[in-house]
Amino acid sequence: MYLLYSDESGNIANPDDAAVVVGGVAVHEDAVRPLAGEINGTLTNFIGATRAKELEIHGSPLRRGREGWRDIGAGKRHGLAHALLRLVDEWEHEGSSSVVQPFVVAIDRNHSQSPMETAYGELLFMFDHYLREGRRKGNPHNGVLVADRSNYERALAAWVEVARARYRRPSQDARRLYALAETPFFVDSQTTRLMQVADLVVHALFRAYNVGDWRWAETLRPALTLAGDRRLLHLTGTDPCSCLACDPSTAVTVDSAGVGTQ
Ligand SMILES: [Zn+2]
Repeated sequence: MYLLYSDESGNIANPDDAAVVVGGVAVHEDAVRPLAGEINGTLTNFIGATRAKELEIHGSPLRRGREGWRDIGAGKRHGLAHALLRLVDEWEHEGSSSVVQPFVVAIDRNHSQSPMETAYGELLFMFDHYLREGRRKGNPHNGVLVADRSNYERALAAWVEVARARYRRPSQDARRLYALAETPFFVDSQTTRLMQVADLVVHALFRAYNVGDWRWAETLRPALTLAGDRRLLHLTGTDPCSCLACDPSTAVTVDSAGVGTQ
């Protein structure tokens, strides 16, 4: 079983948000506890065991030095964020021979009339596609969506049901979902380190697509551009785009001011 810890960022009702982002990290069931331990270890290395126990990882306050992160210097906060994002790229669980699998969908506000629903639908399809590819290679895993108890709790349960109902489509339809369990599992992000990492991943891409700040997103590049695998989808409106997802050959570089440019 793979658990996809998911989160969303951006408010479609807010005209300042040009894009909303949904995404998360999928983790083998046996790797959930070891990865949480690794996250706690990383936190302890940066801010000490006492603070690590107290603080939640949330992208926005961590980046801006707000809430519990107020008295922790910018260098340390950003170093921590990059270290946590590097776990998504590099961490391996020996017991299950698995790694962390990120999936992200960014959707421009003018792409769809119901962007959150469209974005979650695409996220579920990407996750299901990954599980199906695994089955083909002899790793018969099912998946379940783990989501935050949020504004979208009831809508999300319905969207998963709708996405699942695509199994009634003809078998030659590539968009049938095979491996996804029917009901999402809702948790409180305060208690779940993996939900907090999902928040960090989504926040990194939200910054990239809304203000052109690719600094944190760039650290995820290795995991988001795995050969032959779609991990980052950008659903655009009418504007042509040359981002990492739309044109993977476009290098995203960080200039001397530390601001990502394409
Ligand atoms: Zn794009």
